[in-house]
Amino acid sequence: MADEACVRYNNAVLYENGVKYVGDVLLHDDGKWSKSKGNEDVKKEIDGSNRLITRSLQNWHTHLAMQLNARDFSDGFTLDRWLNEAIFPTESRLNPEYVRVGAYAAAAEMIRTGTSFAADMYFYPTVTGEVLQSAGLRGLIGGPVSDFALPSHPDAKSALDELDDVLKKQKQEDKIQYAIATHSVYLCKEETLRMASELAEKRNARLHIHVSETRKEVSECHEKTGKYPIEYLDSIDFFKPGTICAHASWVKKNEIRMLKQHEATAVHCPSSNMKIACGGTLSLPAYNDAGVDVRIGTDGAASSGSGLDMLAEARLASLIQRHDHWDATLLPAAEVFGMATKGSKDWAVWDLDDIRMRPLGRSGNRHLANLIFNGANCLDLWVDGNALRLNGKTSSVDESLAISQLDDAVESYYDGIE
Ligand SMILES: [Zn+2]
Repeated sequence: MADEACVRYNNAVLYENGVKYVGDVLLHDDGKWSKSKGNEDVKKEIDGSNRLITRSLQNWHTHLAMQLNARDFSDGFTLDRWLNEAIFPTESRLNPEYVRVGAYAAAAEMIRTGTSFAADMYFYPTVTGEVLQSAGLRGLIGGPVSDFALPSHPDAKSALDELDDVLKKQKQEDKIQYAIATHSVYLCKEETLRMASELAEKRNARLHIHVSETRKEVSECHEKTGKYPIEYLDSIDFFKPGTICAHASWVKKNEIRMLKQHEATAVHCPSSNMKIACGGTLSLPAYNDAGVDVRIGTDGAASSGSGLDMLAEARLASLIQRHDHWDATLLPAAEVFGMATKGSKDWAVWDLDDIRMRPLGRSGNRHLANLIFNGANCLDLWVDGNALRLNGKTSSVDESLAISQLDDAVESYYDGIE
């Protein structure tokens, strides 16, 4: 059916759910696509002969404004030292302006790498929300809650009160949604976790938490409570449907079943786990057996050392799962691409003339494998019928401004820590 408000790509390759289509396609504003008859009224027509169209990438665990930090920020520290001697003292200097600069740079990097959504956890969440909104992106922005002194709030209670206000005003159709990000079981006491969970229930909001990331975390939790972190969170009735559990690496099978029972989403963050040498990462076969929803996330630039490139993260997810389980059949390209784009309503369009996308193999079907294992330039990114990037140029964010703002900000932000 003719649809004026859409774009036609002529002679393009499109993949959705692992199925390939070659020809003229219409991308509709509501996120659907259809075959083109060539005579529809469209707002834009693009030669697709060098283009691969896929669903856009979705990043399910980020600290976007950490783009302020260099990728090797305090490289070589253990997680414990990294938290206490590097990132926490640095973050004590955070203010809304630094967050605006970091989130703006993050939006530029997301768009450049074909990602249209981030589930974030960081200070001054409404600042990040405003930046993503103006960049035309989608977000599930978690306001941080912790008993560790926050740069934004004197205590967890005041952080929750402010979040309550934000959540109250939220509408279901907003592209930017807010969530409640309780940092972890080691930075939130039981009362704080319970209050956050009650607020999630009251406002029908999602919770986001780092859980079972390291052996130290799980052994200390067990020592203190007699339970492992997910068992402990279950015992205090913390989980609400859709709780986002970042890392979820050092877990027992009964804990994985608990995540399924609570309809939680587990987020695999391979580069972060490897950089910090957690010695373990989410065990995908066990999660698949239990039927848990699993997504992929980059974590923060400062902790993962990998920025926000979700193609690179998906590649690492595939490699580490195979390596850890001695199983070369795990996470082939189409499957890991499905994990990295799950739930996307948006479109990323990749450059088939990028040398990294060649050869396409004798079958001519190596598109997703080349994309995942070698990367490619994102030419166009469509969200809700708007092109945030077109012909390799981002329009909704000024990249050179993002760069100069970052350069200016880090002068004062680092204060002796490199
Ligand atoms: Zn994190």
